[in-house]
Order: sequence, then structure tokens, then C-alpha cells
Amino acid sequence: GRPCLKCRQKCPGFCHHSWRKICRHCKCSKSEHDILADDHERFVEKMIFEYYKVNGLSDFNINPAIEEYAWTPPALSIRQIEAYFDCLPKENVPIIDSVGDRYRIQQLLYQHPAHDYDPKFCYRLSEEEKKKHRQFSATRKKDAFGQATVRTIGSRMNGHECAEVSYATPLCGEQLNHGELGLFASHAVPENLVWHPECFICCVCENGLVDLIYYYKDGEVYCGRHHADSVKPRCNACDEIIFTEECIQAHGRTWHTDHFVCYECECRLGSRNQYIMRDGQPYCCRCFESLYAVYCESCGEMIELNDGHMAHNDMHWHASDDCFSCSECNQSLLGKTFLPKHGKLYCSVAC
Ligand SMILES: [Zn+2]
Ligand SMILES: [Zn+2]
Ligand SMILES: [Zn+2]
Ligand SMILES: [Zn+2]
Ligand SMILES: [Zn+2]
Ligand SMILES: [Zn+2]
Ligand SMILES: [Zn+2]
Ligand SMILES: [Zn+2]
Repeated sequence: GRPCLKCRQKCPGFCHHSWRKICRHCKCSKSEHDILADDHERFVEKMIFEYYKVNGLSDFNINPAIEEYAWTPPALSIRQIEAYFDCLPKENVPIIDSVGDRYRIQQLLYQHPAHDYDPKFCYRLSEEEKKKHRQFSATRKKDAFGQATVRTIGSRMNGHECAEVSYATPLCGEQLNHGELGLFASHAVPENLVWHPECFICCVCENGLVDLIYYYKDGEVYCGRHHADSVKPRCNACDEIIFTEECIQAHGRTWHTDHFVCYECECRLGSRNQYIMRDGQPYCCRCFESLYAVYCESCGEMIELNDGHMAHNDMHWHASDDCFSCSECNQSLLGKTFLPKHGKLYCSVAC
């Protein structure tokens, strides 16, 4: 499998978890790995192509206008393309085989998960869920989905002149001047909304909208992932949108009822099975203790989950008078100020 760019040597290579959409080895997402995502790139391209076809637009071009780029905005001159990329952070410019190229692939996978668009990428949906999925996909594509166009303010494009209205970008509130590049989103209301290239970011994750693909809703632009999240709950375990009536809500997150399982051993959690949250994922008590058990600096015993627990930097103590006490005079330090030194606790400088 492909190496993980986050875990480096710790991951032996990407290996698909059967339903979580993460790496079985390191638990990072696919996009975190150095994945060749040609199929996903084509998948997104096809969506854009459909969008141009359905809307009777002719500007679609699949091949970048300049060879050294993996992608360029459609229907621009070479000079405009260069001016456009000059507006973006250097590390986000998709020059082939650069960090920007990798960033683009990573963002395509993150902003537009294939399982948000086609039930065939989802794990075991019922016929009813598939039906709802297709409706959901079709509705938001029709109402909110598009690819922004880049135009020079005040220039002639496709034979018509850009309206000479007072342009203001919703994000920074600054006016765009004659001769500057502006981004237009056909779903945006009012129609004279325009964005600076660097201001065209998802209102949730604040990532630049990859390949200028946006969803528009109530005055804001979203990436695909966060637009979907704004309409429906997403399962924190399998990363799919939830189309069932019931789901589990806990700690501000949602799960398919069947997917509320231990992040490590995948045993069922909930009413009878106690769980502990860590980094946004639930663990059964046994896995949690074996993975994250901490030991008391004083008595050396494990600190059980239900035990009172004191911590300072990487050191832990039972929250008892015996364990959390001055190592010189033995007085309890619970609720008092203490001085940690070389892994030991003291009540005062004198001790
Ligand atoms: Zn990893
Ligand atoms: Zn991995
Ligand atoms: Zn701006
Ligand atoms: Zn986003
Ligand atoms: Zn799920
Ligand atoms: Zn477990
Ligand atoms: Zn102890
Ligand atoms: Zn003391």
C-alpha cells in the first residue's frame, strides 16, 4: 500500500478498513496517504462535465491550458491563469509533482468524498437508504453545486461585458477593482457577488475550494463535505451521510446505530456497554485501559478509569491523600498548591 504522509514509517502502507474509510494500519484517512487518485480525479471531472452539460455551458475543458499544471481554471488566457495562481498560497498551486499537486488530490478526496455522491461507494445501504441518497445527491447538485468562473473585472468575456456594479466579496468585504481577477458563482444571490481568488474558501473548513468547485447556501460557499454536513448528519465512524431515521448522538457527533462501536475492537457500545471518548472516538473500557492506561507516580499502580486522577505534564497520581502528597513530609496536597520537581511532589520550597 501507499505510505502515510502523517505517520511515515509507523504505517506499513494504506490498507482499506472494511467499512470505516480509513487505513487499517494507522487509522488515517485515504487522503492522508500518498495515494494516486486518478480514478477519483476522473470521478470529480465527470461531475463537472455533467454540470456544464446540464447548464448549457460551453467552457468545460478537461486538459489544463498550461502543461506544467495538474489543473487550471477553464476559459482563461495563459496570463490570467498565471495571475490567478499568483493569488493563491504557493504550496497550494497544483504544479505537477509538487506539494501543490498532492494538496489538490488530498483536497479532492477530502472535500468531495465519493460516498457522498454515489451509493455504490457506501457500505451496505438498504434500498430505502439508496433511494434517499440519490435524491439527496440530485437535489443539492441542482440547487447548490457549481464551478466558479474566473473573470477580469470589467473585461469582455465571451462577448459580453461584466456588469459594472459595485462588487464586494462576502468574505473580506473589500471591493474588487477594474482589472483584478474575480470569482463568480452562478448560484450566488445577489448575482453581483464576487470573490477574490484567495477568499473563495469553504466557510466551515476554510480550505480553498478545490478546482473552484463550490456549493452555495444562504450567502456562504461550502466544500462538498461541509455542505452535505449542513444538510444531514454524518456518521463519525464510516464517514457516510446518515439516511436512516435513527442514529446515535453523543458528544456533539452522530453515528449510524450499528456503527457506534469501539474504535479498537469494534464491540457494541451504548446503554449496557460503558465507553470512553478519546480524540472524538469511543473506546470500550478494556481497550481504553490497554491503550491509554496510566500509572501512579507514587504507588506505581494503574489508575483505574473510575479512580480520582491528578495529572501534571506527563505525570499521574491517584487523587488520594496517600498518593498525591509531599514526598518529604507526606502531607496531602489535594486541593493545595504543589511544587513538582524531578517527578516528585513537594508542599513547599522548604521541603
Ligand atoms: Zn497514518
Ligand atoms: Zn496508513
Ligand atoms: Zn476578498
Ligand atoms: Zn469544507
Ligand atoms: Zn456509519
Ligand atoms: Zn474495544
Ligand atoms: Zn497511587
Ligand atoms: Zn512537605
